[in-house]
Amino acid sequence: MWRLTGQPAAFLGLAIVEIARTAGVRALPGHSLHRSDFVLRVGLHCTDKIRNQVKPAFERDHIRLQVDCESEGLVYWDPERIQQVLLNILDNARKHSEAESQVAMSCREENGKVVIRIRDEGEGIPAEELPYVFERLYRVEKSRSRDSGGSGLGLAIAKEIVELHGGVIEIESKLGSGTVAAIRLERGDGSAE
Ligand code: ADP
Repeated sequence: MWRLTGQPAAFLGLAIVEIARTAGVRALPGHSLHRSDFVLRVGLHCTDKIRNQVKPAFERDHIRLQVDCESEGLVYWDPERIQQVLLNILDNARKHSEAESQVAMSCREENGKVVIRIRDEGEGIPAEELPYVFERLYRVEKSRSRDSGGSGLGLAIAKEIVELHGGVIEIESKLGSGTVAAIRLERGDGSAE
């Protein structure tokens, strides 16, 4: 028996979620979240696991990745799904950044919630396109000279996963200066299923 790991596994995960959607079933019904408690700093993979997964692509593109995970303690989320969200947003940040720029991921406690921000210094998103980036199959690339080769599904799926956790995802962007994706999540507890 073999097992896919790393980024191919994350992309396969995205594809499976999308197939479920198009088949008319809710992609991630609440009961399919596999929440488990884990220590944020280690278990969220926010620092180590995620950083290690994206590191080769960031190094290849000469983009610095800074990770600052201040928030610690137990959270009760689906670690695989939240990791899928973060990998997707980090991948977007890298794809839309120039060499020698920086992508920063931070994790903070704000008003009793855990807030994860991924900030890049890349090309940004035009203000008129921003309201649509969470729509399925929506791609800004049609108005860009450069096509980064995505599917237009990543952010739609990320939003669904975050909302199933009772959280919120927002994107702020300035054309030519960069983009910030912010995810706000309750720590959750065993009763959150
Ligand atoms: P894709 O898989 O095509 O990247 P997404 O759903 O992840 O689709 O993103 C939707 C659109 O938002 C894409 O066209 C992408 O170019 C744009 N986008 C997402 N993140 C960023 C970012 N950090 N900087 C610039 N554009 C972005």
